[in-house]
Amino acid sequence: MTGEDTISAISTPPGEGGIGIVRISGDNAIEIAEKIFVAAGGKKISELPDKSLIFGHIVEENGEIVDEGILLLMREPKSYTRENVVEIQCHGGSMPVRSVLRRTFEVGARPAERGEFTKRAFLNGRIDLSQAQAVLDVIQSKTSAALKVAQNNLAGQTSKKIREIRGEILNAVAHIEAMTDFPEEDIDELAISEIDEKISAQISNIEKFLENQSTGRILREGLETAIIGKPNVGKSSLLNFLAKTERAIVTDIPGTTRDSIEEFINIGGIPLKIVDTAGIRNSDNVVEKIGIERAKNYAKNAELILAIFDTSRPLTGEDEEIFELLKNRNAIIILNKSDLPQIVPPEKFSNIDAPKISLSIKKGDGTGELLKIISEKVGKIDFESAFVRDEREADLLRRAIKHLSDAKNTITLNIGIDFVSIDLHSALECLSELTGDSVTEDVLNEIFSKFCIGK
Ligand code: GDP
Repeated sequence: MTGEDTISAISTPPGEGGIGIVRISGDNAIEIAEKIFVAAGGKKISELPDKSLIFGHIVEENGEIVDEGILLLMREPKSYTRENVVEIQCHGGSMPVRSVLRRTFEVGARPAERGEFTKRAFLNGRIDLSQAQAVLDVIQSKTSAALKVAQNNLAGQTSKKIREIRGEILNAVAHIEAMTDFPEEDIDELAISEIDEKISAQISNIEKFLENQSTGRILREGLETAIIGKPNVGKSSLLNFLAKTERAIVTDIPGTTRDSIEEFINIGGIPLKIVDTAGIRNSDNVVEKIGIERAKNYAKNAELILAIFDTSRPLTGEDEEIFELLKNRNAIIILNKSDLPQIVPPEKFSNIDAPKISLSIKKGDGTGELLKIISEKVGKIDFESAFVRDEREADLLRRAIKHLSDAKNTITLNIGIDFVSIDLHSALECLSELTGDSVTEDVLNEIFSKFCIGK
């Protein structure tokens, strides 16, 4: 539909699996498939009806078999990209999948860029930009709650909300434009105050939407959480406990050392992203022991600090330094090893303004209470509502508010109703950029570069 090249890529993750899928999309997708796939019954691929599924062999130019597999054909516009799409399922090892991909290139496809299938779905109008980004969020979601929110966005929840706001502003613009057909002195004061109210209502709608910006981000990226404490207080024991109780997803971030393994722990649907789990887990190793300097670093960026103290041993200067780190921070104080004779009285911690809990991670006493405190800290979320996805969206919404406020000022100053219309158009433009109705190539490239190849 876009008249662009035909692209192909491996759409399944690397590694060995039952099946692997190579996806081809574009005007020549069917032609390309026909050159490399021989259907078992001898049927011509190009003559297959839409949504056909057929068994056969992927072959080299000389007819030699590369692999056997199933071909799925989706004719435009009823496909993911709205173009002709062919998916070939072959055996899921890296050789068969890569060989099939190579064959597609040899007969005219070009390698797809990151997110290019989804980008085409957007450019061809099947989904808007907010839905395209939701595709990425669905793939990367770390908890069922994050998945639910992403699915809501994929179904167009954010877009619907923005369209409603845009509709109201457009309505005000139409109203103004109807008025400007009349001479200045006939302008109805009542109508102007109605427009003014309409604008105020949309400002407050957008403001409300912006309020949950951090929640949206936390669901997507996880609440940055640091577990800090001097050596041997029980940091890795706590992490192990949390990871066991609440399903954890560990992701290796490409290009970084083992130190920055991220671990996501699901607390009431909210992913806690525990930083530097490699360091914590390896605390048997003297070199890896988290010293106070490292603790300072983690604490600096954390949105939630779980500070652990061992109350069966006297507090030391290191503990005092940790006290300092907790000032004005979102923290929970964990007084560990309650199963041992207690040396440090709880009053020692009374100056720190944070919830405190005495427990024994080893015996499991008090751990349920800890989970409750963490859940309360991270807050209650209405997973059905729409969330501002990222800083780009937030910025556009703030700019829209600015233009709407300008429009209100223009009304107050009585400069001329035409100028109000100009401000409203600027606000509309910001909202259009959010849904991708008007967006630059650079912004699109930036957004889709975050996708994986094959999506
Ligand atoms: P880290 O150095 O802070 O990561 O501490 P670890 O989690 O490695 O724990 C240090 C030691 O304390 C280990 O031998 C743990 O078994 C022990 N430990 C952890 N929690 C408790 C607890 O609640 N009670 C007792 N008695 N020992 C604990």
